[in-house]
Amino acid sequence: MAYSKIILKPNQERRILNGHLWIFSNEIEKTDPAIEPGSIVDICSHKGKFLGRGFYNPHSLISARILTLTDEPIDTNFFSKKIEAAQQIRSFIYPQESCCRLIFGESDFMPGLIIDRYNNCFVCQSYCLGMDRLMPMIFEALKKNFSAECIIKKNNSSIRELEKLDKEVNVVEGELKLPIKIEQKFDSKIINFFVDPLNGQKTGFYFDQRENREQISLYCSGKNVLDCFSYIGGFGIYAAQSGAKEVVCIDSSEIACQLLKKNTELNLANISVLNQDVFEAFHQFQIENRKFDIIVLDPPALAKSKKSLFSALRKYKKLNESAIALLNTGGILFSCSCSHHVNRADFIQMINQSLTSQNRQAQLLEMRGQARDHPILPSMPETEYLKCAILRVS
Ligand code: SAH
Repeated sequence: MAYSKIILKPNQERRILNGHLWIFSNEIEKTDPAIEPGSIVDICSHKGKFLGRGFYNPHSLISARILTLTDEPIDTNFFSKKIEAAQQIRSFIYPQESCCRLIFGESDFMPGLIIDRYNNCFVCQSYCLGMDRLMPMIFEALKKNFSAECIIKKNNSSIRELEKLDKEVNVVEGELKLPIKIEQKFDSKIINFFVDPLNGQKTGFYFDQRENREQISLYCSGKNVLDCFSYIGGFGIYAAQSGAKEVVCIDSSEIACQLLKKNTELNLANISVLNQDVFEAFHQFQIENRKFDIIVLDPPALAKSKKSLFSALRKYKKLNESAIALLNTGGILFSCSCSHHVNRADFIQMINQSLTSQNRQAQLLEMRGQARDHPILPSMPETEYLKCAILRVS
């Protein structure tokens, strides 16, 4: 099948040849006439050489995203092969597990698409018009080759506004029985979570913190732990299952706290749940002179764009300062940022400024990132976003 072409300006192919998958609007010299927005195109160098095949949206700053570097048809079979390749990696990194991020967009060579797998329920999120149009093929592939019993389309991210796309959430296949129970194995333990993909945040669970949560077990035996921005209890439940003396979770979302309470019962964990704003809770702890041995800070992305970087760093600093003030001497801070625009160096500098203003010193024990089912493309720094600094604060 022949696809329409877009031709790049001279010398604009270098980034693509280095493995980047995006074409920006200012890099395009011309296109075949009347290409329908969202359709499949061939991306060619100025001299007409085929560089890759992807989808095109003239109304987006990222005008094209590459799906393949090979001249091959984009059909259900194409997506079956891509999903199979992604599944093989997950089976290798998390043997015998059936809940994880199956497709992490560009990093699995499926730009603009997320698929999180909850046993045989697949929750799919598309961020761009081209991917929206391809979703029926992806659903078909999931049904035919991955025994999907339930497929949810969860297209409600605000990123969709960049491509002027409406929000849409529905169960496209099968029946969804809520909440879904998932298992996360680590050491010889099994941690269970109830998740709610429809009413919960993102696809229902944050798989990206998986190994960072496991790491809390190294530090928390016999300690009192404060899990801030806990959502449905990711860090808190791991801490409670790893011998923490006391665990307090704080989240401002009522829906999250309700599920968190169910998750504490499910794991027979003893956790105090505060459905509160983190800063209000901090203020109260200060008045009570209450201190903690371990504090986890996992706020939502505070820098949504490059433009907001400086104001976001100020917010991160205020948050980290307030947490450091509540840490016992020798306490451990797990400080996270899921903002891609805050790089590791900025993040560590911000933590250092927070320590200095609180007259405290610290040693960085571990600088961690996103879970292995969120791989990073060396050719695309945009695929790296999560930072988790573990510090001992004296
Ligand atoms: N740590 C969680 C994920 C955190 S996502 C895990 O391991 O799964 C960020 C969470 O912060 C969301 O649940 C959101 O409801 C909560 N949140 C956002 N702003 C908040 C605030 N000001 N105070 C308390 N919680 C907040």
